[in-house]
Amino acid sequence: MTQTSPSITQTSPAMTQTSDDRALHVLEFPGGYTRSTGPVIGRFLTGLRAGRLLGVRTPDGKVLVPPTEYDPRTAAALGAADDDWTEVGPAGTVTTWTWVADPRPDHRLDRPFAWALIRPDGADTALLHAVDAGSKAAMTTGMRVHPTWRAERTGSIKDIACFVPGEGPGEVPALENESELEPVSLVTIPSRLEYRLRPGNIWNHFIDGMARGQIRGTRCTTCGKVYVPPRGACPADGLPATEWVDLPDTGVLTTFAVNNVPAAGAPEVPFISGYVLLDGADIAMLALVSDVPWQDVRMGMRVKGVWVPEAERTRSVKNLRWFAPTGEPDVPFERFEEYV
Ligand SMILES: [Zn+2]
Repeated sequence: MTQTSPSITQTSPAMTQTSDDRALHVLEFPGGYTRSTGPVIGRFLTGLRAGRLLGVRTPDGKVLVPPTEYDPRTAAALGAADDDWTEVGPAGTVTTWTWVADPRPDHRLDRPFAWALIRPDGADTALLHAVDAGSKAAMTTGMRVHPTWRAERTGSIKDIACFVPGEGPGEVPALENESELEPVSLVTIPSRLEYRLRPGNIWNHFIDGMARGQIRGTRCTTCGKVYVPPRGACPADGLPATEWVDLPDTGVLTTFAVNNVPAAGAPEVPFISGYVLLDGADIAMLALVSDVPWQDVRMGMRVKGVWVPEAERTRSVKNLRWFAPTGEPDVPFERFEEYV
């Protein structure tokens, strides 16, 4: 597998508050996730580009669509020989389905449709695809469907626009220069996850502090350890950590990394991310370090928080932009080695 987009970026880091108090988080591979297909999936995708549905045979005669690289029953490698492959469908039978009454923006159909498992004729397994049946009432388990193919095909499951009711076979628009194209060996898959999270009481109180330029931690009422960002329970002993502690924005950089991959919200590369042990805390927090040449950053460096101007603050951890050196003498390693 090849990974050409190596970073997962949280483009809206924690706790960007929305009007209904839920924080929007985005997790994505910018530009998509690029991977090699391997010969088996590559052959299936190359078949889709040609407007054909291909399945792979297992030693005991089952036909799997989409093909798998290994027999799910015996783990034997599949698909090495041409004889292991067979064309199936294109018509098939719906084995189960669910109705999507309100398509989302990224759905391929802009009208209500069904996600269905469809077993192509000649196959022993079903593939997942959309069925454009017009209405929920038109959907039944056991109904016959066939694919409609896009004119522009690239070697993707999306080369099938959707399945529609009936035997078909349906037209397969010719693809220009199809015979001259290389087999599909790489795919780039859009990867983006958006979710909203409603912060609990602990996080809300922490964010209220950040909005005022105050870092708040919680102290375990049993062992006395101070955690920041705060936690409701002590990870050391599992007991409540509910006593609030105001912490200074000064501390020691315990360890760090020089980042050469750009990240949303971070300074220009190369930038420094590291762990800062705030004075009075018992756990180091992940933070950015800036206002210093990256070559001059050291473990044990004393740092202080740099905040966005008061007028620009929101209920967000982004108020604390990064940490910068204070110029005080470095802290000896022995004094923070337990926190590295
Ligand atoms: Zn504790």
